[in-house]
Amino acid sequence: MAVPKKKTSQSRRNMRRSHHALKPVNSNECSNCGSRKLPHHVCTSCGHYNGRQVFAQNVATEEAAAE
Ligand SMILES: [Zn+2]
Repeated sequence: MAVPKKKTSQSRRNMRRSHHALKPVNSNECSNCGSRKLPHHVCTSCGHYNGRQVFAQNVATEEAAAE
């Protein structure tokens, strides 16, 4: 097994970890319901994408509305 010849210094370790920070998640407003959604994704709260309904959000309420 390969073994490091020298101990990694605090400086070198911290320089390596300088790229490890998390970035904030980008989000857009849904054009249909106005809730926050991921860009290029179907809205999870209303099921709209690009101005049309992609999936039925709540089957129970739609069945109740049909009756
Ligand atoms: Zn929506």
